[in-house]
Parts: sequence; structure tokens; C-alpha cells
Amino acid sequence: MKSTVLTKLAFICLLIYAPIQTMAWGMTGHRIVGEIASCYVNKHAQKEISLILGSESLAMSSNWADFIKSEPAFNYLGTWHYANFKDQLNYQTLKDQMEQDTTLNIYNRIKFISSELKNKNLDKSKKQLYLRLLVHFVGDIHQPMHMGKKEDSGGNGIKVFWFNQPSNLHRVWDEQLIEYQQLSYTEYTKVINHATSQQVKNWQKDDLAIWAHESYVASRKLYSEINPEEKLSYKYNYVNVELLNERLLKGGVRLGGLLNQIFSN
Ligand SMILES: [Zn+2]
Repeated sequence: MKSTVLTKLAFICLLIYAPIQTMAWGMTGHRIVGEIASCYVNKHAQKEISLILGSESLAMSSNWADFIKSEPAFNYLGTWHYANFKDQLNYQTLKDQMEQDTTLNIYNRIKFISSELKNKNLDKSKKQLYLRLLVHFVGDIHQPMHMGKKEDSGGNGIKVFWFNQPSNLHRVWDEQLIEYQQLSYTEYTKVINHATSQQVKNWQKDDLAIWAHESYVASRKLYSEINPEEKLSYKYNYVNVELLNERLLKGGVRLGGLLNQIFSN
């Protein structure tokens, strides 16, 4: 009897735990991107955003796309969080591939949502959904393992240990490296939100395919540096924290620029 209860409990835990594995930047990572973006949003865009989100901040809107994963009505959003690629693609071949991809991937969905949000006649509930999704997906496209390989589900299949706990490469990058810094999203934002005006200008000028290609190149580097079942700890953080912070910062700065562009009239 007892073991049946335990089995049931284990099963329930597994159900609760399973979606977390494919979440993309965990809660904190997405909130950091949203919080940074709000520092780069101009007054006009901020006004439009407030009309859509009310008192909800960009940071707090960022996790909606993961919250709704439990709702069957939103199952169609499943593939919107990522794209998979073969090795050795340059910027142009990667861009061509994403442009031609007829499945709904993160690249064509960011483009779609951005153009929908420019439509003044779109109804408010759609606008709210799309804005929340946009904040999330601009974060995701900056997470290197969201531009990963199909055969290992963006690193979910690369089993590693994180401070002796079983984990995988995707999860380390979604959550565990960020959690290791032991900062709230507002503290984290204060620590990394120091782009120079030249960096802001350059990053906001980069097109969507550059954002994706940077993550893709980073993912290939991360793949090449890992051994299956490797025990990651202090050194992995030391070697990768700079890349992690750069991806979060660029995501936030670019999201701010994109929102200014979307809400420019
Ligand atoms: Zn996601």
C-alpha cells in the first residue's frame, strides 16, 4: 500500500517537474531580460505598453509563456520557444534556413508577433497575449541552448551533474547558472545593466538573425566543451558567467529597442 502511494507521489512529482526541463531561461532569467528592457523603453512605448499590460511590468509578464504550458488550449505554442540547427551554419545559411522553415519557430514567431502588435485594431486580449509572448521569446532566443541540436532537444539530452545533482546542459543554462549567482532579478539587473551607449546602439541595430546566430555559435562552443556525465561546478561558473550575463543583457537591451520600434506611432 505504502509503496503504491509513493509510486503515485513520484509520478505526480515527475509530471510537475517535467515541463520545467524545457522552460528556457528560468523565471529569474526571463525577468532580468524584461527588467533590463524596461530601462530602454521610451516614454511613448511605455504608455502603449501600460495600456496593454496595466500595472504588470515587463519583468513579470515574461513568464506567462511558460505558465500557460499546462493549458491544452495553448499547446500550439510549444514550438515557438526555440529552433534546432545542424552544425557549421554561417549567419546567412542560418538566416535562410529560418526564413524558409514552414514550422512555427522562435524566429518567424517573433517576426509575426512584432507585426501583429503594430496593428492598432488588434483586440486587447490578443495584444496582451502577444506582448507577454514577445518578452519571453526575445529572452529565449538569447539563451544559447534554444538554438541547439534536434537530436538532443537543445541540450536536454546531454546529461551532466550540477554540483553533484543530476541535470542536463539545457537546464544548467536555463536556470542553474543563474540561480548560482544568488541574486533576485532586480539585483541581477543592477549588477549587469551597464551597457555603453555605443553597445546599446550597435545591439539594437542587429537584426533578429544576428541574435539567433550569436546564440547558435555560443551553443556550439558549449556543446564542444562538455563531456557526457561531466561534473560541473565552480569552474563551469567561472568560465561561463561572462557569456551568461552578456546574453541576458543583450536580450534586455534588444527587447527595449524592439518595443520602441513596434510602438513608434
Ligand atoms: Zn521559453
